Amino acid sequence: MTADSDGLMKKLVSLCKRRGYVFPSGEIYGGLQSSWDYGPLGVELKRNIESKWWEYMVSTRSNVTGMDTAIITHPRVWEASGHLEHFHDPLVDCLKCKSRFRQDHVRGNVCPDCGGELTEPRDFGLMFKTSVGAVEDDSSIVYLRPETCQSIFVNFRNVVTATRMKLPFGIAQTGKAFRNEITARNFVFRSREFEQMEMEFFCRPGEADRWFDYWTEERLRWYAELGIREENLRIRRHEESELAHYAKACVDIEYTFPFTGDGWGELEGIANRTDYDLRAHMNASGQDLSFHDQASNEKIVPWVVETSGGIGRTFLAVLLDAYREETVEGRERVVLGLHRDLAPIKVAVLPLSRKLSEQAEEVFRMVSPHFPATFDVTGSIGKRYRRMDEAGTPFCVTLDFDSLEDGAVTIRERDSLDQVRVPISTLVEKLTKIMERGWPEG
Ligand code: ATP
Repeated sequence: MTADSDGLMKKLVSLCKRRGYVFPSGEIYGGLQSSWDYGPLGVELKRNIESKWWEYMVSTRSNVTGMDTAIITHPRVWEASGHLEHFHDPLVDCLKCKSRFRQDHVRGNVCPDCGGELTEPRDFGLMFKTSVGAVEDDSSIVYLRPETCQSIFVNFRNVVTATRMKLPFGIAQTGKAFRNEITARNFVFRSREFEQMEMEFFCRPGEADRWFDYWTEERLRWYAELGIREENLRIRRHEESELAHYAKACVDIEYTFPFTGDGWGELEGIANRTDYDLRAHMNASGQDLSFHDQASNEKIVPWVVETSGGIGRTFLAVLLDAYREETVEGRERVVLGLHRDLAPIKVAVLPLSRKLSEQAEEVFRMVSPHFPATFDVTGSIGKRYRRMDEAGTPFCVTLDFDSLEDGAVTIRERDSLDQVRVPISTLVEKLTKIMERGWPEG
């Protein structure tokens, strides 16, 4: 990590705490390493990302449906999926400073922290194990899911029966996943508890390559639609030697995270998983998970194209991409230039003076049923604008003494700092148009 990129991460982590995006978990007890709590603005941004994903992947498509499955999963799921056998990372320890690393994250066998010699790699199981019920023995062992997709595969027949969907179709879900990562670090990029957004697309075997290309493009487009700059995104195809045991092909959508060795880090993986998972669960359970195509009277075990992204990594990429420092009108400001669809607060209503609070609160009551809004009267108007710039709020509505005469308020746009004056009676209508079409349309 360069001094600059280290500096950027420090500034962002500090802004996240200051403005209520992300707090270290258990902070009053010294913090739990690599665990993070999403604060008042963070939870809104996270939900906005998730709902944009759901809208893009599920609600607007007739051939993709959703689910929400249990976190504590039947242990045989992980046996059949190959996780118990394969879901390990190679762990190495530094003989000198005792730091631990994933072997594939270090170059050579010298400690990246102190230059000491590293041990031979050992397998380290990534699944969190716990037990259910009052008696703890081998028969009560269960696992917290390390990915959300396996429950989709084991529910394949239930979904087909319930929905009567025809190939090709997708099943999507978002939710928590847990991995006992050896080196959880880099803020919410790699934590032990995180949220995934996954979609399994079931198709005829001969069509999987085409769908793989289709979903790769769709997923890249989604990140661009969040406002992430296209030059900061790329697609990286996995080498044959890198492919997971279940995959025929895989690409990663990567972002220019400032802390990764080569400057790029994974946001999402798209994989052609063949029929590996359905067949594995058919063999282990003895149940028929094939699809009966009534038109041709054929039994097909579909192939699967998976799109698998993380909410935390998207959250971090969105914030990094939006963060900027600039000098305007001789003053420095920090801005989160978030896309208006993602901004946790969309409108801040600010009376110029405390004396105008009552009238401004009325404006707030008009606006808040339509857009996530806040009302702030504390501090000078300049300070309040800066606070809103840092929080990523795209529009401030200011009520001044003239408002009492002309019944109008000023809308200030965060990035251009342009201002327009509009009658209070048409404010909601104007803001609605701006939210739909962007500034300065309306
Ligand atoms: P990495 O190589 O970085 O460990 P991975 O290839 O193991 O990631 P996948 O198993 O493909 O990751 O998981 C799909 C997505 O889930 C990732 O692209 C990422 O966005 C997210 N994800 C995986 N592990 C973590 C984690 N420990 N913390 C936060 N997000 C994660």
